Amino acid sequence: PMPFYTGFIRDLTDRQQTETRLQELQNELVHVSRLTAMGEMASTLAHELNQPLSAIANLLTGSRRLIDRGREADQAKVRDAIDRAAAQALRAGDVIHRMRDFVRRGASQREPESLSKVVEEASALALIGEKERQVDVRLSLSPAADSVFADRVQIQQVLLNLIRNGIDAMQDGPRRELVISSDLTEDGWTRLSVADTGSGIADDVREKLFQPFMTTKPQGMGVGLSISRSIIEAHGGKIWAEANPRGGTIFRFTLPPADLEDDTP
Ligand code: ADP
Repeated sequence: PMPFYTGFIRDLTDRQQTETRLQELQNELVHVSRLTAMGEMASTLAHELNQPLSAIANLLTGSRRLIDRGREADQAKVRDAIDRAAAQALRAGDVIHRMRDFVRRGASQREPESLSKVVEEASALALIGEKERQVDVRLSLSPAADSVFADRVQIQQVLLNLIRNGIDAMQDGPRRELVISSDLTEDGWTRLSVADTGSGIADDVREKLFQPFMTTKPQGMGVGLSISRSIIEAHGGKIWAEANPRGGTIFRFTLPPADLEDDTP
């Protein structure tokens, strides 16, 4: 049988070193707001675009002046200025290309990551301040499915959403067991599961589960699952919910293996 890593999160949160790391992670999560990254990128690119555009304007104004002067001898100068303007226009095009790539990738920084590390940090983070709710969190992560190609911070955001939702769903129940496990799919992708023993999902909610602003909670925003789906799909994976045979719900998502990295464009 394959050796599985099994652990209890509560032990982890007790360590001083972990607390420091959690603080760092929390700061990171606040700072990675996609909008902030977009804003910064946009202002950098606006600045970069400005240079070739003013160069083009200058070169064309100069050319116009030379043409107006009507001297045969200026022809070579005009030709040269037009060539240089064309080169600058290509440079501006490059900048726009980069901006489009950036938007398409959603500023995602995907790298080979150890899923167990990502999960341990995210669950410790999700459990801050949950001690009084007495949730029993267990990890059962397969080493064979550990290596993924993913944006660590984005996946932690997904995990945070799923774990918090699981805890919310178990709030009023007698059993509060959250099991985070992983295994490999047939095509060698990693499949992560977050299983709770909570209320389960009502039929009318199930169809709209991943829609933005769909919430059944008084204080809910209803964006957690829709953001999670965008993140997982941007990684090429899928996310879905199933009924837990032990009662409650299992959310599952898939991630590409780290050695797929070479194939991605
Ligand atoms: P929010 O948590 O702010 O409501 P989400 O998009 O994360 O937003 O979740 C949307 C809705 O899906 C929740 O309000 C809840 O009704 C349902 N839901 C999500 N996860 C679970 C779960 N583990 N068990 C039961 N219902 C859930």
